[in-house]
Amino acid sequence: MHQMTLAEIARGLADKKFSSEELTKVLLARITQLDPQLNSFISLTEELALEQAKTADARRANGESGALLGAPIAHKDLFCTQGIRTSCGSKMLDNFKAPYDATVVSKLAAAGTVTLGKTNMDEFAMGSANESSWYGAVKNPWNLEHVPGGSSGGSAAAVAARLLPAATATDTGGSIRQPAAFTNLTGLKPTYGRVSRWGMIAYASSLDQGGPLARTAEDCAILLQGMAGFDPNDSTSIDEPVPDYAAGLNGSLQGLRIGVPKEYFGAGLDPRIADLIQNSIKELQKLGAVIKEISLPNMQHAIPAYYVIAPAEASSNLSRFDGVRFGHRCEDPKNLEDLYKRSRGEGFGAEVQRRIMVGAYALSAGYYDAYYLKAQKIRRLVKNDFMAAFNEVDIILGPTTPNPAWKLGAKNSDPVAAYLEDVYTITANLAGLPGLSMPAGFVDGLPVGVQLLAPYFQEGRLLNVAHQYQLNTDWHTRTPTGF
Ligand code: GLN
Repeated sequence: MHQMTLAEIARGLADKKFSSEELTKVLLARITQLDPQLNSFISLTEELALEQAKTADARRANGESGALLGAPIAHKDLFCTQGIRTSCGSKMLDNFKAPYDATVVSKLAAAGTVTLGKTNMDEFAMGSANESSWYGAVKNPWNLEHVPGGSSGGSAAAVAARLLPAATATDTGGSIRQPAAFTNLTGLKPTYGRVSRWGMIAYASSLDQGGPLARTAEDCAILLQGMAGFDPNDSTSIDEPVPDYAAGLNGSLQGLRIGVPKEYFGAGLDPRIADLIQNSIKELQKLGAVIKEISLPNMQHAIPAYYVIAPAEASSNLSRFDGVRFGHRCEDPKNLEDLYKRSRGEGFGAEVQRRIMVGAYALSAGYYDAYYLKAQKIRRLVKNDFMAAFNEVDIILGPTTPNPAWKLGAKNSDPVAAYLEDVYTITANLAGLPGLSMPAGFVDGLPVGVQLLAPYFQEGRLLNVAHQYQLNTDWHTRTPTGF
């Protein structure tokens, strides 16, 4: 039962082969049995899940239908869930029960999803390995000595290990696509503004975007359908109609123009990954796509720009965690300053503190022009590169990551080494573009992802290309041994 995709679950529920309650019980038992190896959940919500499953079954019995009605999922632990701990992977919020649901959570609940729990993540979504969580590192089900990627590593590990079919995640610089690549999943970061950020605890507000992590493009289409749409509570959410993503999966790829940036294949890319990317290009050519070499000349500046902008926004967003209204508060503060200092010093981990310091420095008087403003100018150049490229091609293709999942602890002493691994993903966030990662093969038994980028609001195009690719390849069907 646990092997089913969202699409298969929807068919099984519609055909009355099993109930949502039965399926929910099977998956909850599986999580209890197998998750101790992975640490992919921070909280399990058994009672809520069983109640939601019963409600979904009753709705179906009353004649309602819908692909998500009765579908078990989990939420990354930065989506606020009313009355349930929403920790953001931080000691700072260990005792925080959100007073309301994030829009993503309430939309999916209305569509009938069943919330099994809240998934582990890098603290405040800062990281690429899921090792900065206060609740401990998450392990990659493909090899328990390796990281699952981050910051949505809990969602990725849980779905890859077949503990559940799909989960929500967020992507500020790659945190949906990179863990998808590291765990053999399909993950989609939508266009900035496509999915509401209301109730999603902010890391870098101009880059953050929620999206689906699942095994197939078809399942990403189903989950995105329940997440996307305008939200008056989020002033950056965009009032554009949401297409029927599942209906758009069967378009032909005949004549599809795929741009392959020459900058993607420089030094730093594992040559074995380069070979797998070439194979996926050949596969798409067989389906009728036309390949064109393109250039993204400002790509080399993207990492330094991102690692100024993201920490700058984080330093501002995280100033609200001061031990006064909510969050961790130190014992016996001597005075207000002592309260602030010790609450923040005790509540935030090392990576979060590092970013707050870098961000506050980049925003400070005298340095603002040299760092923050400069980074914003680079951001515009990165966007202009994409706009020029999309005049010539329909999608852009390349590796999701330069290397496969590294060993736990391998990059802990050198944060910049981890930052460099984000080279292919962060440009889409700087430009606000949609991007998808899908399985493309294995290196030393570890999964490799191929990334597709599209113009604004062309999530449907990405899902269509990925679905057609998955109808003709079987990488995405491979299951990690032991799960
Ligand atoms: N690895 C990037 C960072 O640490 C991206 C994280 C994310 O997308 N949330 O900032």
